[in-house]
Amino acid sequence: MKYFFKHKIQIERKLNARAPVLFLDFDLTLSPLARNPNHAFLPVATKNVLKEISAHIPVVVITGRKLSDIKKRVGIKTLIYIGNHGLEHEKSGITKSAPLSILPKNGLKKIKNKFLNLAKKYPGVLVEEKKFTIALHYRLLPRENKSAFLIEVKKIHPSLKKHGLRGSFDKKTFDVRPDTKTNKGTACLWVLETLQNKSHKKLTPIYIGDGKTDEDAFRALPQGITIRVGKSKHSYAEYYVSNVGEVRKFLVWLLKLFI
Ligand SMILES: [Mg+2]
Repeated sequence: MKYFFKHKIQIERKLNARAPVLFLDFDLTLSPLARNPNHAFLPVATKNVLKEISAHIPVVVITGRKLSDIKKRVGIKTLIYIGNHGLEHEKSGITKSAPLSILPKNGLKKIKNKFLNLAKKYPGVLVEEKKFTIALHYRLLPRENKSAFLIEVKKIHPSLKKHGLRGSFDKKTFDVRPDTKTNKGTACLWVLETLQNKSHKKLTPIYIGDGKTDEDAFRALPQGITIRVGKSKHSYAEYYVSNVGEVRKFLVWLLKLFI
């Protein structure tokens, strides 16, 4: 993995040859770590620079959060939003979501009840209902209860498939979603293709993210500029920046290319 800021010149050349479209994850990419996911926010300085960039190129925020949540949290009208790992999106005020028929409603309900019971039993555990998906956050769980809690979650995990669901652990969260092919990678490719068809020219996707679900996007965009927040040996991203502060530094650098 290469440190992004050591390769700025080559990347600038690439972006001069072909205009970019910018994809950004939210939690721990744009927003600093929040122990409670309800408290995650977009720093004002980042918001301002994103707003300015979106006057020059398409900017897409792509997250596992639900669409209404991410729109409120970012609050910039000129962006494109993708929620629920690709199952919902909004562009220019038009909202689209995966057909509700793909939703394993009974399965989601069963899992939700199991999650609510766990949250009752383990104070500090939060259930996030996202209509298409459901997440269990355990960053606030006291350390001494963690292993007992995880044993219970791991018991639920194998039962997801028969309910038409799948689950993944990442960053003190267990996220459960429909077992479909849609992921951040397929969603990025769809947005990229739509924008390219509209502008009749090829675009260079830039993708920045920090988590496991972002790996689907890194893998889907080998022709793009893929940047992981945090160096890792096990990532499909080509470059890394060190932290959320450096994502903002990257955004400031990118904006300067247009002005
Ligand atoms: Mg993230």
